[in-house]
This record gives sequence, structure tokens and C-alpha cells, in this order.
Amino acid sequence: MQKDGRWSSVPSPSSGQAKFNRRPKSHEPALYREMFLVWAVCAFGFLPGIPPRVAAQSSADKIVHIHCGSLIEGKTGEARSNVTVVVKNDRVSEVISGDAFPGAANTIDLSQETCLPGLIDTHTHVLLQGDVTAADYDEQLLKQSTEYRAILATVNVRRALEYGFTTIRDVETEGAGYADVDVKRAINEGVIPGPRMQVATRAMDVTGAYPLLGYAPNVPVPHGVEVVDGADEGRKAVREQISHGADWIKVYSDRGYRVREDGVLDDIPTFTAEELKAIVDEAHRERRKVASHAIGLHGVHNSVEAGVDTIEHGDYIADGDLKTMVAHGTYYVNTIYVGDYVAQGRAAAGAPVWVKMLSIHEDTFRRAMKAGVKIAFGTDAGGFPWTENPAKEFAYMVKWGMTPGQAIRSATSTAAELLGWSDQVGSVETGKYADIVAVAGDPIKDITLLEHVNFVMKNGVVIKHP
Ligand SMILES: [Zn+2]
Repeated sequence: MQKDGRWSSVPSPSSGQAKFNRRPKSHEPALYREMFLVWAVCAFGFLPGIPPRVAAQSSADKIVHIHCGSLIEGKTGEARSNVTVVVKNDRVSEVISGDAFPGAANTIDLSQETCLPGLIDTHTHVLLQGDVTAADYDEQLLKQSTEYRAILATVNVRRALEYGFTTIRDVETEGAGYADVDVKRAINEGVIPGPRMQVATRAMDVTGAYPLLGYAPNVPVPHGVEVVDGADEGRKAVREQISHGADWIKVYSDRGYRVREDGVLDDIPTFTAEELKAIVDEAHRERRKVASHAIGLHGVHNSVEAGVDTIEHGDYIADGDLKTMVAHGTYYVNTIYVGDYVAQGRAAAGAPVWVKMLSIHEDTFRRAMKAGVKIAFGTDAGGFPWTENPAKEFAYMVKWGMTPGQAIRSATSTAAELLGWSDQVGSVETGKYADIVAVAGDPIKDITLLEHVNFVMKNGVVIKHP
């Protein structure tokens, strides 16, 4: 999150991460299995968009049958009852109707559960511990070392995985440099548990627009972004961030929100059109995509005109810009829950506009759905503390007019498309990563069940079991 407010809360040490790793056959060297998994995730994690090779069948293949009471496979958002998912090593090898292997020793019995693809959150900040107010934010940047923040991030990614998010896009470190690249690496190398990640590193904003702000001119303070002015500096920053591991480029396109008399959410644009276009052009030349924090009228308009790939937050989007988003295929990552979470605290700290923004956001969300904009699930976790389950977002999306099936698709197949990983994640299908979660009951009837994921498998490895 950011812009005119932040918050705080340090996660308590996570407990009870139930590991339920499949048991290797007695003749199988455990080391080989570990090495294969490490290789597989490294190959995928470091080269987004390049499918890893598929392991040849051998006696060392690990086969597990997951018997699901029902399965929502992710593309349609509809449930199919009594299904067996066959997992070979880290991939789904088959999806079969019925209890295909009754009594088999290597079966995980989820006959009382609904299985779904691993959830995907396309807007997180694993290096942030919540920021309702500016004081919360400043304290993290001024009093926590990057090293300490990275330690906290290792707890946050484990929480994300245990909540059921097997993939995330982390859209900037809020002043913690390139620590997201290291967190991703530690996950991919099997050092710590966490979701597969795409990362945006430092993000960009113009001089005087991004916290820390308000300190005496002679007091040098850190900033939550890389400060960039002018098209050339923008191009240079893109090159620099990509060279240090950025999968995405993140820009902050507006700030300073107020509601006009006609109900439009007005803002102060940050970058000029020329600057934004240069950043987008440079990122696209280097096969990276651009995520734009854009909350109000001008920020959104300038972003879609510059050709960004995703609009983050988008509390107000003019109808004309919604049309352009449909024409360009621009994704809308709406982050509703965080707005509600911070509204009262920010109003109390002198920014009542955050309370008014909720109804504007709802109207925009409904217009975006009607216009046919691609809506991808994203929460701004880290903008609220990681002790809050980001899956609370689902209930807001349904309250604002989505069907539960549509909300689930936004966090599975649509989110996978946004990441460019449709061929790897986002649905339970032959050949894709065995990223599977389950809940007790039917989330189509009660979407809040997704706040209580009780089974998590990532890469064919069970992380949590009922
Ligand atoms: Zn954010």
C-alpha cells in the first residue's frame, strides 16, 4: 500500500506448520528427490515464462492420489464432485472421476473437502508489516534494518503459503532494496517455505511524492521507492532494477486524493506522460511488465494511456479508461479489503477521504465488471499485517457483485494469466504444478470458507493437512 498512510504490526512467530511430506520409497535416495524439487523450482522460478523440462518417468517417480469430495479446477469456477487428482513428483499427471484408487496406500483422503488450485495473490508486500499511518511506515524504514525486515519477510511468506497462496506477485519492497529477490531465491532453493514469487524490487516515484516525507530539509531520510525524474532516469532505473532481479516494474502514478463535488476521485499525477511512456517502453523492450499504483482519475488515465499492464487499486476509473483497459487487455487488481482495513485509522490521522473512497471503489468495481475488464485477485497484504488472512478479499468481491466462482477464477486462472504463467499454475490440470488447496465445505455456497484453507500442497509437497 502506501500513499498518505500506513500501519504496523509485527507477526508473531508462526506455529504449527504441519508438514506432511510424502514418504519416499525405501529404495529412493531422498537426496535425489530433494535435488529434483530444488532443480524444478529453480528452473521455473528464475526464468518466468520458460517452461521447465518435464522429468522423464522413472522408478523414482513419486505418485500420490488426492481424493477430493469435489474439485473446482480454476478455469470455469465450477465444482465437479468426487474426483481423484494424480500427482507425479511436482506435477498433476491426471484428473480422474471418482475414487480411482480405493484403499491405495499413497492416497490423501480429502473426500470431505473441496479442492481448488493453489490461490494466487497478485499484489503483496512481504517486506512490510502493515502501515495504517505514516508513523507506522516511517518506523519500519527508520528503525528496522533491511536484514531484520528480510527475517520478518521469511515469516510472512510462510504465512502466505499456509493461508493457501502458493503463488504471489510481490509489488515492491517499500525501502528494503532488493530483499524480495533474496526471499524468492531462498524459497526457490528450498531454504524456507513460501509461495512461488514474481517480484518488482524497488518501484519508482518522482521527487517529493513518496514517503518518507515531512522531515526537515537538512535531515536525509530513506524513501520507500527509487526516486526517478525524467524519461532517461526512468529508463536507467528500469535497466538497473531488471539487472538486480526485477520480474516486474512498479510505478506509483498518483497521490494526494480528494473527492470532487461531482463524486470523481481526484488525484495529483506523479510522472509526466513522457516519463511513464519511457518506463513502460523500456520495461517492455526488456520483456518485463509494468504494474501501476493508480487510485484516482489522472493516475489511472495516464497509466492506461502509457500502456501499463496492470492497474493496482483503481478506486476510481473513468468509463473511457475502462474501455481502453478492455481494448489493451490491462488487468485491474482491485485490493478492496485493505481500503476498508486502513480507512478509519487514516481518517483519524487526518485523511477522511479514505472512508469516502470505499463507495467510489465499489461503484468502479461494478462498472469494471460490466465493461468486461479482466479482474485479478490482489490484496495489498503487508499493507495490512500478515496476521490478517488476505483471503478476506474474496468476501468483499462477492459483496460487490462477483459470483463466488468469478472470485475464485480471479485468484486462480485469471491471476495466472496476469503473471504469464497460465501454462504452469492457476488450474488443476495435467502437466501443471501440483499446487492444490482444500477447504471443508463448498466455497461456492460460502466464499468465506477460503479464509480457512486446511490443506496446502505446493510443487507436490504437502505443506498443511487437515
Ligand atoms: Zn501495495
